[in-house]
Formats: sequence, C-alpha cells, structure tokens
Amino acid sequence: MRFPKPVNVNCPACGAPNPSNEEYCSACRHTLTVYIGPARVMPGTYSVGSLMLIVAVVALGTAAARVNVVLGVEMLLVSVPATFRVITVTAQKREDSMPFSFTDQAYVFITSLMMLMLVFLCAGLAWGMTLMLAVNFVPSTPVGAAVAVSVSAPVGLFVAYLLLKRTWPYRG
Ligand SMILES: [Zn+2]
Repeated sequence: MRFPKPVNVNCPACGAPNPSNEEYCSACRHTLTVYIGPARVMPGTYSVGSLMLIVAVVALGTAAARVNVVLGVEMLLVSVPATFRVITVTAQKREDSMPFSFTDQAYVFITSLMMLMLVFLCAGLAWGMTLMLAVNFVPSTPVGAAVAVSVSAPVGLFVAYLLLKRTWPYRG
C-alpha cells in the first residue's frame, strides 16, 4: 500500500469520510480519534467511465467474434483483464482521494492492453519453442504429441506468470 496522502477514515458518529490527520469530523464535529483504520471502500466507487469501458469491450469483442471467432477470443483474452486492471487502479486512486480522469483510465487501459499482448506473445513463443524441442524427444504418435504439449504448456504458463507478476501491479 502507498499512502501519498492521508487515508480517509469514517467518522464513528456519522460515517462521513475524513482525512486521517484530522482531529474532528468535518461534517458533524465528532472526534475522530476512536476509529483507526482505512475507510471502507464504498459501493459506487466504480465510475461511469469504467462501466462505459466494460460495455465497449463487450461490444468490440462480440463484433470481432462475428467476423472471426479466434480474433474475438483473442481480443477478449487481452481486453477483459485490462478492463479489470483499469477498474482496480481507479478504485485504488479514489481510495487515495487522487484525481483519476477518463483520460487516465484510457491510458491505463491501452498500456494494459499492450502489456498483456506482449505477455501472451512471450508466453506463446516460450510454449512454441519448448514444443519444437520436445517433439524431437518423443515418438511421433498421438501419445507422444500429448506428452510434448503437456511438457511445453506449463513452460508457457510459467513465463506468463513470471511476466504478469512483474508487470501487473500498478505503480504510477
Ligand atoms: Zn461525523
């Protein structure tokens, strides 16, 4: 957790959010010294921008799936996690009471998309290369092919995991 600004605490009397460095509630003047802890994330932190993004992603994915099923699946595979990342970052910024505009959301979305495409590309390459190596060591039978795939698939997944672990947390 980062605390660039004082976190908000909820007033024990009226529930209004107040910066944790304040002594008295700005709404009802009740003392704030009783309650120590982060403010609850209130429902409704998800902005209209996030909702619009979800609608746009679903619409785009559906449209792409009509043209080409593989393309549609690929689009959803990168845009759904990117959307969730935007929603998480937005909620996090709101919690820190930092301004986060629609342009910021769009920026996080686009960088998330590129990041995910890179991760999938690297994971796919790692999988493909391991598969090409593995097929040299197994008999060319359906069972041999299954062994080669089940050996190489975890390599691809592991590469994806390593990359996501490094790139997913938002620092900005
Ligand atoms: Zn109060």
